Amino acid sequence: MLSEFDLIKHYFAPSRAAAQPAHVALGIGDDCALLAPTPGMQLAISSDMLVEDRHFFAGEDAQRLGHKSLAVNLSDLAAMGARPLGFTLALALPAADPAWLAGFSQGLFALADAHGCALIGGDTTKGPLNICITVFGETAPGRALRRDAARVGDDIWISGTLGDARLALAGYRGETALSAAEQQAAAQRMHLPTPRVALGRALADGGLAHAAIDISDGLAGDLGHILERSGVGATLDVDALPAGPVLATRAPALRRAWTAAGGDDYELCFTAPAAARAAILAAGAASATAVTRVGRIEAAPGLRLADAAGAPLDLRLAGFDHFK
Ligand code: ADP
Ligand code: MG
Repeated sequence: MLSEFDLIKHYFAPSRAAAQPAHVALGIGDDCALLAPTPGMQLAISSDMLVEDRHFFAGEDAQRLGHKSLAVNLSDLAAMGARPLGFTLALALPAADPAWLAGFSQGLFALADAHGCALIGGDTTKGPLNICITVFGETAPGRALRRDAARVGDDIWISGTLGDARLALAGYRGETALSAAEQQAAAQRMHLPTPRVALGRALADGGLAHAAIDISDGLAGDLGHILERSGVGATLDVDALPAGPVLATRAPALRRAWTAAGGDDYELCFTAPAAARAAILAAGAASATAVTRVGRIEAAPGLRLADAAGAPLDLRLAGFDHFK
């Protein structure tokens, strides 16, 4: 049986100290970690918790879970345009299962290493499976992509594609018929989201975007947070929303519903002045991330949905809310 300390040493602190990035002055093993952000930069900090049966199914593949736990946190840094520095991991585990720990740490570190984001500490306890990560990033003062910064006349942009994660959920629940290949392709998006860190940083560093948010609970609801915090409204061109490859093969009604209000997309929704269009397309190309213009910010409050011809669409869209 693994002790708590063996478990941490073996799976979460294995000879990583040597490969520690310069911004980690002291990593795992003491009472606190010490971070050394670039002088003059602000720290960007965010936490996301993943709870079994709430955010993932019991028995979920450990490696995918390791990836997703960190990906949803990196997505928050991306939405601020921050550069990842490090993260802590608070873990409640029902048992010290070596196969599970090996898979989880593999998925976790593959993504962490790809982003130069070091595991700098955490806590480990026995209990129902619960994974809470806190990420630390840095951003230049005045450059962060805040929710309250959208301006009237801004374009609204989306990274990547939307809706395939929602389609995968419908497939698992038997609400939609999907072939095995379709289910697998759509489920990739649900289990292995790609945090748009490079795009977010390019938008912030280049001063290209005004406001941004990452889409976790459905575009309409998440864009609504930008509108509310910025004191503006918007029209969304629903037929311009880029659907994931599997959802793109479905009927227009489903496509509209789940691009506009899916869930678990982890794409960026950002607003930017029309003058930045060419630079934003270049930033998308440089970060190998599709970017699509899907609407505009207006003075009249509220979110209006329009079809390809510009006619109003009346979709009943529900954002995801844990307490509804
Ligand atoms: P403390 O007694 O101060 O709570 P712990 O015994 O919980 O410290 O942890 C010892 C060290 O291991 C600390 O540096 C802590 O940050 C780190 N640690 C504990 N759990 C994890 C984990 N799941 N991942 C990474 N580091 C961890
Ligand atoms: Mg502790």
